[in-house]
Amino acid sequence: MCNKLHTPEELEAAKLTILRLVQRDAYPEEYVALQENRAISKTSTILKLDPFMCNGLLRVGGRLKHSTVSLGMKNPIILPKQNHVTKLLVTHYHEKIKHQGRQFTEGAIRAEGLWIVAGKRLISSVIHSCIVCRKLRGKLEVQKMADLPPERLSMSPPFTYVGFDVFDPWEVITRRTRGEAAQSKRAELTCMSTRAVHIEVIESMDSSSCINALRRLFALRGPVKQLRSDCGTNFVGACSELGIRQDDQSQDKILSYLYEHGCTWEFNPPHASHMGGVWERMIGVTRRILDSMLSHGKHSSLTHEVLCTLMAEVSAIINARPLIPVSSDPSSPLLLTPAMIVTQKPASTGTC
Ligand SMILES: [Zn+2]
Repeated sequence: MCNKLHTPEELEAAKLTILRLVQRDAYPEEYVALQENRAISKTSTILKLDPFMCNGLLRVGGRLKHSTVSLGMKNPIILPKQNHVTKLLVTHYHEKIKHQGRQFTEGAIRAEGLWIVAGKRLISSVIHSCIVCRKLRGKLEVQKMADLPPERLSMSPPFTYVGFDVFDPWEVITRRTRGEAAQSKRAELTCMSTRAVHIEVIESMDSSSCINALRRLFALRGPVKQLRSDCGTNFVGACSELGIRQDDQSQDKILSYLYEHGCTWEFNPPHASHMGGVWERMIGVTRRILDSMLSHGKHSSLTHEVLCTLMAEVSAIINARPLIPVSSDPSSPLLLTPAMIVTQKPASTGTC
């Protein structure tokens, strides 16, 4: 068998050819009418999308003609709901974002410049019949809604107010030859205003590991004004809840590092779980994405390097989630995701 590599241009051309065939099959009258520069029938199911033809593809019209965003973002390609290829695409993007819910899947599809007519129902039905999702997910949690904390509402650059939590250790193979396993912890840092996440792998919970993680955060994301964590009314309590080792004046070292960098550490009082709701939910999402990644069994022996890569991919998936419901109004097809706010680029899940 010939393992010919295909260039991005070849793959894109193949994709567009398939999508053209799908559209010609699903909307034969509209396709011919627009090809001949005629108006489409008043009874067409895609009339309200104000479709137009560009390179043999039907695209959503809308009012963003003069916008500088990419063609796919402002004029997504129209796809019919009842079609095998559309279903395959939904399944593909659902798998790409590691089996997250409808909002994530919808976001990934829109970010690729596709518009499925009445797509919400198709996406729900694909997720409903997805076996991996059924295995991974139990009952949906009910979210308690409370007043948003002030940091969530302040106008500040990304990662100025950061929620901090640590999640369970993961077995990591440190030396492959001897097969020794070491425990590694991960910290998750959530920006309070853009709700972007940043994950750092912490080797051990001593002060130098924690300070190293904070140094990486500060170096990559810029100055942080305030860290906030759950559990404990003071730093000692929070440290023990987070599992930070309490020897050699660990806590003093961490605090003095933070103060030197103009950052304070605030604590949510115990039993005020709604205040930490933002990052608790993000930790839940992180776990689910990791569970899905690891359920394939390919990563049975996690090395530190693989773990770091997976964590970066997990944050890319989380940061590509839509912050507001994906619009079904053709005049505003754009997505808003934390990744777009932080990187100023259209969202991409960044995984393969
Ligand atoms: Zn699934």
